[in-house]
Amino acid sequence: MKNYVTHLECSLTGEKKQKNIVHGLSDAGKPLIVRYDLEQIKKDITKEQLKKNDISGFWRYSFLLPVDQENRISLGEVKTPLISLDNSKNELDFKGELIVKDEGLLPTASFKARGLCLAVSMAKQLDLKHLAIPTNGNAGAALAAYASKAKIKSTVFCPDDTPEINIREIQSLGAETYMVNGLINECGKLVLEGKQEAKWFDVSTLKEPYRIEGKKTMGLELAEQFNWQLPDVIFYPTGGGTGLIGMWKAFEELLELGWIENKLPKMVAVQAEGCAPIYKAWKEGNEFADLWDGAKTVAAGIRVPIAVGDFLIIRAINKSNGFSITVSDEEILNSREKVSFKDGMLLCPEGAATFAAFKKSLNEGLIKQNDKVVLFNCASGLKYPLPEVSNFLDKNSKINYSNFKL
Ligand SMILES: *Cc1c(COP(=O)(O)O)cnc(C)c1O
Repeated sequence: MKNYVTHLECSLTGEKKQKNIVHGLSDAGKPLIVRYDLEQIKKDITKEQLKKNDISGFWRYSFLLPVDQENRISLGEVKTPLISLDNSKNELDFKGELIVKDEGLLPTASFKARGLCLAVSMAKQLDLKHLAIPTNGNAGAALAAYASKAKIKSTVFCPDDTPEINIREIQSLGAETYMVNGLINECGKLVLEGKQEAKWFDVSTLKEPYRIEGKKTMGLELAEQFNWQLPDVIFYPTGGGTGLIGMWKAFEELLELGWIENKLPKMVAVQAEGCAPIYKAWKEGNEFADLWDGAKTVAAGIRVPIAVGDFLIIRAINKSNGFSITVSDEEILNSREKVSFKDGMLLCPEGAATFAAFKKSLNEGLIKQNDKVVLFNCASGLKYPLPEVSNFLDKNSKINYSNFKL
């Protein structure tokens, strides 16, 4: 047997779809979810066997992935480290554990590599020739990299105010790259509209079934790193929500395999005050979110005004007894500075948003003093504009070195 997939199903209606053929959204226009023969996996694979697997990155979980071995595209996916923020934690007088999962070490320096690695590997498996994506930067770069490696053409559309370094990265990795005078959802419209004529396949967030499977590996990896005892709370910067939905799917599959206990983490969807459609819908008790007008935040990765998986994010939050919370750009930038000065870790703005949200949740009593908390740093902090340096020293002037004293 090459993989354990049994079928796909609509995440809203449960309608079943056949495996091994190309799928976009379900007939109901909702994300399709991959299902596996978990009973068979249970018989074939044990935690002890997994321990002996010498692949360290996420391909070690290939039994819970849809890709046949010969179609794996790899750029050196590493197991991302868990890093304690002890100095920040002590300053806040927090008695639990405060841990960052640093996803910035993956290929193309963001966790988008997980999802796009899977999407491109499946595109190869299904013999697709041209992939297109709307992006705020990181997804485009990851698509470009994996598509180039797989010898598949990629076309990328990003808002024209995407950080320059990201746009240049995408083009440098071989994608046909366009800046668009609009937000990510408007870029998404172009990909949808062009489908018939340009004959590309749409790899937008959740509009194909496999990016979730890639993001799911964050949950699998986290579970194994924590020795199958999951943390109490996970703070996740939520844009399209693939990661949150994917991790929740991982936990449900591990539960069914009997590899973890039924004490799952509270899932916290962190959004920016300037773009908070999921927060608003969750707060109002809805499962579906309205388009957020005038989306604006420094955390580009979570500037997503509408998400096709809204109800899946909100269901995971609620099932987990979690919550959604917003933070301002000021809190995000302050947190970035705080954590790098205190703990030597330069978070991306989205990662910094999870720290700001943690702090706020602690103050508001939404989490407990002895909780084991995981924050997600989704990308390298170096992919973003940083504060200017204004100190200048004229080497020919008389320098007063006593100014440098502690
Ligand atoms: C895409 C992205 C997010 C949001 O991830 P989703 O799983 O799509 O919600 C957060 N941070 C960064 C840096 C991203 O690139």
